[in-house]
Amino acid sequence: MEQKCIFCAIASRQIPANVIYEDEKVLGFLDINPLTEGHTLVIPKHHVENVFDISEEDLKHISAVAQRIADKMREAINAEGVDLFQASGQAADQQVPHFHLHVIPRKTGDQLSLHEWWVSQIKKVEPEKLNELARKLATEEIKEVIKSEEKPKPKERSKEDVYWIKRATQLT
Ligand code: 5GP
Ligand code: ZN
Repeated sequence: MEQKCIFCAIASRQIPANVIYEDEKVLGFLDINPLTEGHTLVIPKHHVENVFDISEEDLKHISAVAQRIADKMREAINAEGVDLFQASGQAADQQVPHFHLHVIPRKTGDQLSLHEWWVSQIKKVEPEKLNELARKLATEEIKEVIKSEEKPKPKERSKEDVYWIKRATQLT
């Protein structure tokens, strides 16, 4: 049977991999070029490309499997934490066009300088730009909340106003 891609070939066991998890729908295997020891990829066995075309059900299942693998990493190789990473689309630097969730075990001082890299990439953003982006990305429900917050609120009375209102009512 002709395979669409390298991960389909791994899923159907046409090419070898160090499999650490398998069920009817999902396979977990060690990444051939790991960022840390134990770096694992979790894939659906059937070919879907990325987050835009995987079903919600399959995504939930893969997340649950990743959680089990993360637990196993803590127990079996003393991982202190994990990074979960998923690239979807060429622009996002996805290299293999078959959905895969990276589960990367982490230990203090493991030399994977993700945080340093992250900090080096932070871009400056003005609050107005953040507001504009939030308006564009918000769900319909949240858009309603934003709109209601933007409505001008009744002006609060100052202490002075209250004093004069009291005076006026006492005089009448
Ligand atoms: P991406 O950059 O698409 O998120 O990650 C692709 C990952 O697949 C890389 O970390 C790469 O090392 C891994 N990979 C690519 N080809 C193979 C392979 O044939 N076997 C295994 N085990 N991993 C692979
Ligand atoms: Zn595939």
